[in-house]
Amino acid sequence: MAAARPNVIRVSADLAGLRVAALELFEGAMLEEQSAPALRRAPLGEDRDRVLERTAPARSLSPGYYERVAYLLSLEQELGLGLMTRPSELLASELDGLFAVKSARSEFEREHPACPGCGALNQKFAATCRACRRELRESSGGRR
Ligand SMILES: [Zn+2]
Repeated sequence: MAAARPNVIRVSADLAGLRVAALELFEGAMLEEQSAPALRRAPLGEDRDRVLERTAPARSLSPGYYERVAYLLSLEQELGLGLMTRPSELLASELDGLFAVKSARSEFEREHPACPGCGALNQKFAATCRACRRELRESSGGRR
């Protein structure tokens, strides 16, 4: 196993890929949350599988990317909680990864602004909140 493996992608160094994986994970989490009521209504078994399939988040990259993002998210949480006392212990690749995740999150939040009424995430140009039906455009500086 000493031979070089030039075809192996170093996931931790592929920041563009990590960013895409993070975006897909955020989208997936949102879809999952939105489909939770449908899932609860669906009977166990095949129907449930079909609901899951329909709402399964798109994954365009190999599993390693999502594992890496999951790791970065937990790292981010540890940092946020102050559990890691010395951020200098972070590797350069971890720091880069954290920035990629952060950038993906800002993009996700731009694309899915939270409803000021109930906090549900909506599509960027939605006219009404999908959860509480509140009008979403009223405060966006329109005429009136
Ligand atoms: Zn709402």
